Amino acid sequence: MLISLMCSKCMEESIENSGVVPEGGLEIRTRAVPVQTVGLYRGICPNGHNVLMMADFQQFELLFESAMEAFADSYYRESVSSFAAALERFYEFSIYTLLISNGVEIDNIKKMWSSVSRQSERQLGLYVGLFTSVFGECPKLLSEKDAAFRNGVIHKGHFPSPTDCFDFGRVVYELLNYNIRVLRERFADSMFRAGEVNRHEASKQLKEGEIPIVFKMATTVSLMTLDEPLPMHEAMNAVSKRLALQRGQSQSLK
Ligand SMILES: [Zn+2]
Repeated sequence: MLISLMCSKCMEESIENSGVVPEGGLEIRTRAVPVQTVGLYRGICPNGHNVLMMADFQQFELLFESAMEAFADSYYRESVSSFAAALERFYEFSIYTLLISNGVEIDNIKKMWSSVSRQSERQLGLYVGLFTSVFGECPKLLSEKDAAFRNGVIHKGHFPSPTDCFDFGRVVYELLNYNIRVLRERFADSMFRAGEVNRHEASKQLKEGEIPIVFKMATTVSLMTLDEPLPMHEAMNAVSKRLALQRGQSQSLK
C-alpha cells in the first residue's frame, strides 16, 4: 500500500506566487511512498525542501484500506489477511478506549497489553469481557463460520474466491462501522485519547525542533467519518478508482 506525500513549502510558495488559489485548485506534486506502521515520513522535494509529515491514522484504518487495495488488485489471500488484521487491531483500539474511559493511565494499559500482545485469542477474550462489563451484553463478533474461513486462509493456505473474500470483507466492514458508532456514542473523548497513542509513538522519532505537518487521507473505514458508510461495493469502486489515479500520477518527490 502506498501513501501520497506532498511538499507544504512548495504549496505555500505556489500560493504566494499566484496570490490566490487558482480556479480548479493548485497542482500539487506528490510522491507515493510505502505505508509505515509508525507514521512519520521523511523525504526531499525536487526544490530541495525537507518534507516531514506525520500520518494521523489508526492501524486498523490502514489495514482495512490495504485489504481493499489487495482486493482491487486480485490478491484475495492478502486481502482476507488484512481484513482480519484490521478487526484485531480495532479490538486493541477498543480495549484502549474502554480502559481510558475507566480512568486507567495509558502507560499502564501499554504494560498490560504486553501480556496479551502475542496471542490474539487473549486479546479477543479481553475485548469481549471489557465490552460486556461496560455495555451489559456481548459485542458483535465474527461468526464461527467466518472465523473458520479466515483461519483456513491465514493458517492453512486456502486461496479464497473473489466472492468469499468480498463477503468476508463486507462482514468486517459492517462490524467495524457498527462498533465505531457504538463506542462513539458513549466514549468519544476516550476514543480521541486512544487515537493519540499512535501519534505519540510517531513523535518519538522526531529530532529536536522538528515540527511535522500532520496529514490524514480519507480511508474507507475512518474514525473521522460521521456520515452513513457507503455500501461495500461502492466503497470498493472508490478504492479502485483512487488506485488507478494514483498510478497514473507522476512521482516527483524523491
Ligand atoms: Zn518543496
